[in-house]
Amino acid sequence: MKRDLPGLSWPRLNDSSNQVACHFCDALQQAPRLPEGDAAHCCRCGELIYQNRPRSLARATGFSSAALVFMLIAHLFPCITLQAGGTRTALTIVEAAMTFYHDGSPLIAIAAIVFTVVAPLTLVGGLLYVAAPLRFGIALPGAVTVTRIFQLSEPWSMVEVFLVGILVALLKLGSVGHIHLGTGLWALAGLVLCTACAMAGIDRLELWDRLEIALARSK
Ligand SMILES: [Zn+2]
Repeated sequence: MKRDLPGLSWPRLNDSSNQVACHFCDALQQAPRLPEGDAAHCCRCGELIYQNRPRSLARATGFSSAALVFMLIAHLFPCITLQAGGTRTALTIVEAAMTFYHDGSPLIAIAAIVFTVVAPLTLVGGLLYVAAPLRFGIALPGAVTVTRIFQLSEPWSMVEVFLVGILVALLKLGSVGHIHLGTGLWALAGLVLCTACAMAGIDRLELWDRLEIALARSK
């Protein structure tokens, strides 16, 4: 049976007295629910305590969907094409990792795949799995586990490091031959941007609160 919960929208406050402690000065104060776009500041130090970001779930859903599309393009098309000495070499991320593997550097190959494929896919795929149904107040099976896993994967998603590495390589290889920037490289830049926007659109506290509300309502 569905219950009428006290924390109607966000934030859900576990404390029945609706009080929250400031993260900066520990001052205990009333914590009202906020309309979208508003923020609650500490009455003593003025620091931000929490905020109800405008259309947070819609942003997280939209940007993580776009990130997945960019990821697909980044893996289908070459990042760079090198033309030197009559030969032309075009490499995608996976092909670059396989080259490292065949050249006797399996650890670098595995690290490249984990940091640029597995972790980013877990991050944006997990966020989309949780955030999209939460827009309608639904928590899909395993949403709590998925949230834990994708939040753990966040520090390991290093597409931006890979992107900087490619740019440095471009400077070094410039004297060897002619280099073309591929569609995959621009897609990687789009992936970095959309992932950052998706993660910035909703904070961890809000996501967990909304998940708890959805889970409590489904009981
Ligand atoms: Zn304070």
